[in-house]
Amino acid sequence: MENIRVRFAPSPTGALHIGGIRTALYNYLLAKKHKGTFILRIEDTDQTRYVPGAEEYIIESLRWCGIVPDEGQSFGGEYGPYRQSDRKEIYAKYAEQLVQNGYGYYAFDTAEELEKQREQDKTFKYGAETRMKLNNSLALSPDELQQRINSGEPYVIRLKVPENEEVIVQDLIRGEVVFRSDELDDKVMLKADGMPTYHLANIVDDYLMKITHVIRGEEWLPSTGHHVLLYRFLGWADKMPQFAHLPLILKPDGKGKLSKRDGVRLGIPVFPLSWKGETPEESFTGFREFGFLPQALLNFLAFLGWNPGTEQEIFALEELTQAFSLEKISKSGARFDFDKAKWFNQQYIHAADPVTLEQLVRPIIEQQGYYPEQAFLEGFCKLMQERVGLLPEFWEKGYYFFRNIKDYDTKNVQKRWKPESREMFAELIETLENLESSHWKEQDVHAKVEAFMTERGLKPGDVFPLLRVALAGTMQGPAVFEMMALLGKDEVTERLRNAITLFDTFV
Ligand code: GLU
Repeated sequence: MENIRVRFAPSPTGALHIGGIRTALYNYLLAKKHKGTFILRIEDTDQTRYVPGAEEYIIESLRWCGIVPDEGQSFGGEYGPYRQSDRKEIYAKYAEQLVQNGYGYYAFDTAEELEKQREQDKTFKYGAETRMKLNNSLALSPDELQQRINSGEPYVIRLKVPENEEVIVQDLIRGEVVFRSDELDDKVMLKADGMPTYHLANIVDDYLMKITHVIRGEEWLPSTGHHVLLYRFLGWADKMPQFAHLPLILKPDGKGKLSKRDGVRLGIPVFPLSWKGETPEESFTGFREFGFLPQALLNFLAFLGWNPGTEQEIFALEELTQAFSLEKISKSGARFDFDKAKWFNQQYIHAADPVTLEQLVRPIIEQQGYYPEQAFLEGFCKLMQERVGLLPEFWEKGYYFFRNIKDYDTKNVQKRWKPESREMFAELIETLENLESSHWKEQDVHAKVEAFMTERGLKPGDVFPLLRVALAGTMQGPAVFEMMALLGKDEVTERLRNAITLFDTFV
């Protein structure tokens, strides 16, 4: 394939929705697969929708996910600047070029005038049918036109959409999509303040940045008819990128498009990172803060609209890159199934090495006020990783490794703590204390306790549940000998000693 250049071109209008990350991911995968270039371009021509912090958020999200652009805003490259507001002066000349070549015109109509048109006719559209009745350089006499320009009256430049034509878009996912030009309006290309609209800036930049493939959400498909015309009118038809419009991401129940409100409504993340908006309603918890590993999120997102055509579900980014192809993207919307996202995360946590997990889990434990040694925390991660699906669960399910137990499963104690249990525990403590510290390992502890039980004719049910509750407060958790090995001799014997006095008070 040719030298592939793709771009992710978000507008910094707020937190980047998870659909944006999927778009970025698919762009990234195509680029990496073909040793091409993945570019980040910030499309901020609509200053009224600009939200401070949104650009930083986009960049941090991409970095966290590990889909780092090769070129682009804050990543450098030869085709910069990569932020459209820094490219302001580039666009006007192309809009003028459209006018000079008869593909565009000046329009003076004010917002109020256009509003009035719409009031009179709900279906009003600025286009071939109406343009000659409106205030523009095609309809006005040359004198009047000159006069308006001389007097400094503000005007926009509009695209002159041809009449009665079929505009054909060859989409790599949807196949041939045909627009009737009569359905397309004469879109504004350059605003009165000299700023381009999304359409002009997007096409000019894709051309200047030598973009080969435009991979973006389905909501942009309706604009593509205009885009194809623009390539033709600017004389770049042979340089037009290939288009691929991605299917929608649907609500968990499959009914309609996933929105940020669904996140709040269902208590699930729909943004990669947390976002602090002006109000609580505008603030969201991200996948990162929910306790997802970025690799798991990417794997989950990859499958929202794509699948490899095999049974395999777990794909590291590198494997995704190899397996990915635009042909395998589906046309139909993909249901956002949060349980599936958690399933992916669980798989990644299970498979992660304890050293990596230790780094992810440490801040969660430290936030609770505990600063364990690295070896201990690694051991803890190893014991717990099969039991958690989200990172905060390391604390929620394993807190007793760090602090004195407060909540005991008293019911179980009541059922099993007999008058003779006291003595049994005291002897067990003694037995354990006799085990050399250097032998304080799972197997040795296990052997010691087994021997202790055999000697006294004790059954597992007489010892293990009580031992478990004494050490963890709960019946849940890792195997008891693994737990004992990690907690260490002193801690284990101390907890057992505490239990003797405490358990008496439960029965
Ligand atoms: N700025 C548009 C957006 O916010 C980009 C659409 C495109 O990729 O062409 O999604």
